[in-house]
Amino acid sequence: MPLVSMRQLLDEAAKGGYGVGAFNVNDMEQIQAIMMAAKQTKSPVIVQASRGARAFAEDLYLFKLIQAAAELNPDIPIAMHQDHGNSFETCKSAIALGYTSVMMDGSLLEDGKTPSTFEQNVDVTRRVVDYAHERGVTVEGEIGVLGGIEDGHGAGGTGLEHVTDPDQAVEFAERTGVDALAIAIGTSHGAYKFSKKPDGSVLKMDLLIKIHGRLPHTHLVMHGSSSVPKDLQDVINEYGGKLKPTWGVPVEEIQLGIRNGVRKVNVDTDNRLAMTGAIRKVLWTQPEKFDPRDYMKPAREAMANVVAQRMTQFGQAGHAGDYAPIPITEIAKGYANGSLDTRPSLAAK
Ligand SMILES: [Zn+2]
Repeated sequence: MPLVSMRQLLDEAAKGGYGVGAFNVNDMEQIQAIMMAAKQTKSPVIVQASRGARAFAEDLYLFKLIQAAAELNPDIPIAMHQDHGNSFETCKSAIALGYTSVMMDGSLLEDGKTPSTFEQNVDVTRRVVDYAHERGVTVEGEIGVLGGIEDGHGAGGTGLEHVTDPDQAVEFAERTGVDALAIAIGTSHGAYKFSKKPDGSVLKMDLLIKIHGRLPHTHLVMHGSSSVPKDLQDVINEYGGKLKPTWGVPVEEIQLGIRNGVRKVNVDTDNRLAMTGAIRKVLWTQPEKFDPRDYMKPAREAMANVVAQRMTQFGQAGHAGDYAPIPITEIAKGYANGSLDTRPSLAAK
């Protein structure tokens, strides 16, 4: 099937009360791992590429691989999403390639590092929404600033420096009309999220619940939501790695989020850990090996296992066949006639 609107995936997830994992890709093996897991668990899925991934793989290679995934898996709805677009131009170029969803992260300036003002964020996000919706493409915005740095993108620091203000989130949703909203509740990008198992002092689930209460029709997005499980860290360290002890977002906290409006859950680090652990194990235990397939195959399997586990935990498993995908051109009509409008003032009617 052709690539599907992310908005449709998230609307269906809201109806079904589940979350959809958004997994980052940079190469063929990662795309294959995600599709292996989606097929096995019968899950709709969001595949996403950061600017770093697009530069690493080259746009055309990456997009053609996604198209191949869609062609080879006609029963799996796949949305292709630009992760952390830093400018109108980045989002426009993703849409030109055929991405069905973009994130305009206007919480930072175009350098991807400096926090922007609220007005700057509203302005650039609104422009992307106008452009994208006209073409049936979904838009995710961000309000508040996430912690950490990934792929050179991020403000750094802990996740608590710029947590989302609920009043600003409502005003932002009203003035931009975004389909989905990433909020900052203490999570960070990368492997080093928390120095101990997070509690309410560092992971603000109460804030998330409050924002969902005010914005029931805007799909919430949790970034930096790898769980960084100890067993994946252990494999790396057992075979010569040197990861420092670290904690991610516990799966039960993500599930609490899903019960409170979280529909898109971004996972990258766990997959990176799984692949690296599998590769290290082969190279460490069988130093005579030199065929990349000898370590890429177990790496792909290790990632597929983690993805399948998350798909089951997020509740998307079994939902691939629930609905018929709506063509992007039809989605565009829904935006034009207002039926897909999520702005709180209109959706309240
Ligand atoms: Zn992110």
